[in-house]
Amino acid sequence: MRVHAAHLLLPAPPTPRRHAVLRFTAAAPVNANPADATRKKQAVIVGGGLAGLAAATHLASLSVPFTLLEASDRLGGRVATDEVDGYLLDRGFQIFLTAYPECQRLLDYPALRLQPFFPGALVYLGRHSPSPSFHMLADPFRYPVRSLSSVLSPVGSLPDKLLVGLTRLRAAATPDAAILSSPETTTATHLENLGFSPSIVDRFLRPFLAGIFFDPKLDTSSRLFQLVFKRLALGDNALPEAGIGAIASQLADRLPAGSVRLNARATTINPSSGAVTLDTGETVSAALGIIVAVEQPEAEKLLPQQLPTRSPAAERSTVCIYFSADRAAVEEPVLLLNGSGEGIVNNMFFATSVAPSYAPPGKVLVSVSLVGSFAGRADAELAGEAVRELGGWFGPEEVASWVHLRTYRIGFAQPDQTPPTAPAGREPRVGDGVYVCGDHWCSATFDGAMVSGRRAAEALAQDNGIVS
Ligand SMILES: Cc1cc2nc3c(=O)[nH]c(=O)nc-3n(C[C@H](O)[C@H](O)[C@H](O)COP(=O)(O)OP(=O)(O)OC[C@H]3O[C@@H](n4cnc5c(N)ncnc54)[C@H](O)[C@@H]3O)c2cc1C
Repeated sequence: MRVHAAHLLLPAPPTPRRHAVLRFTAAAPVNANPADATRKKQAVIVGGGLAGLAAATHLASLSVPFTLLEASDRLGGRVATDEVDGYLLDRGFQIFLTAYPECQRLLDYPALRLQPFFPGALVYLGRHSPSPSFHMLADPFRYPVRSLSSVLSPVGSLPDKLLVGLTRLRAAATPDAAILSSPETTTATHLENLGFSPSIVDRFLRPFLAGIFFDPKLDTSSRLFQLVFKRLALGDNALPEAGIGAIASQLADRLPAGSVRLNARATTINPSSGAVTLDTGETVSAALGIIVAVEQPEAEKLLPQQLPTRSPAAERSTVCIYFSADRAAVEEPVLLLNGSGEGIVNNMFFATSVAPSYAPPGKVLVSVSLVGSFAGRADAELAGEAVRELGGWFGPEEVASWVHLRTYRIGFAQPDQTPPTAPAGREPRVGDGVYVCGDHWCSATFDGAMVSGRRAAEALAQDNGIVS
């Protein structure tokens, strides 16, 4: 069965908007000469994900010399795309929200050649639902009542759909500061307090938000929900033409030559001596300060005195399974949600229907996301179960040509974001000359990671008298 949503008036792709982008010396990053690091007075950034890259961008713009130490062989951290036989495989399903304010400041959007999703979702309600099994919730955030089929669909009641629109309008008009100081509860309680029915929560909001926060119980902070809801309302959801990793690459490509060292794992932060020790035993001098921009579990290991240890049970995990196919069962650029309450698939989409560059010509890339770690289940077993399940959605003939490409298991996708949280960001200074940033220090979004990186860089520059 092929599912068509074209009658739902897909909007024209947005005109790329140009933002004022922070610019400075442009040069390709190359591995720094370790000897240089010991010769000059410099700052050290540990970790080259979005937070570390944002910190580096700001230090560079302030002409603060630094070395960025990255443990792996590439920059970008959790934001990465692998090119496999002409397919672009993002490491986990990730969407770029164009309304992120910090991203607007740091990134050159036109250069990313963003490919927008249709601002709505196609919800699968299961084989036992009244025919048809798929229902389009067309543009629930921007045009909630525009589509007749949305209004009449069994995904929630008419008051639910009006409430989505009202909540969207309210979120769009509420300043971030008001959201960040609003009473905090879980997203589940917040949705209930707003008056959403269990039907729209279970069929649409739960799978939709679980795909963003990897938290099907909706324990995530209501403040974070409101912030993300606002960004969804104010902008587009999109994929860069070259894959999600292009976001990190754009920041990395602008760093000063010689400022990055790959395959350089920090093992000890020494605030008293102003130095970082690597797993090779080498010491890297950091007289101007040390910015720790690693993911939360690693930050807790590097800074046991400064950071409280959180329970690993609160980690948010996901599994992303990719298949190649000969054709797409859904050709519209839309996200599909599992609103049936059954099965292992949470959400899926035909990536090439959003960005044709994600597969070689004539081929289709299918991206299937599960929420949770699925530890103890083999990759082949999970891929087989996903294909059988999606054969129930589209018909066995549609999935017959699917070939498993790769499975990504992301154990630590995001930190725990249950209340109390600090999505406005925590104080970066955690000790003399030591600064922390990363998504666990703000909010687990591209934007939150970048905000935290900027704040750490600003604090370091201030403490060294470089800015007031
Ligand atoms: C599957 C998935 C989907 C997501 N979807 C979205 C989305 O749609 N929208 C959104 O806004 N956000 C999304 N996020 C969240 C977002 O990607 C993260 O919040 C953000 O990228 C975190 O950046 P970071 O720099 O804080 O951490 P990381 O990206 O984890 O960077 C930390 C870096 O530190 C390095 N490192 C670790 N230890 C050391 C050490 N000892 N020495 C040196 N280097 C070290 C690591 O190798 C890594 O490069 C998603 C995340 C995942 C995993």
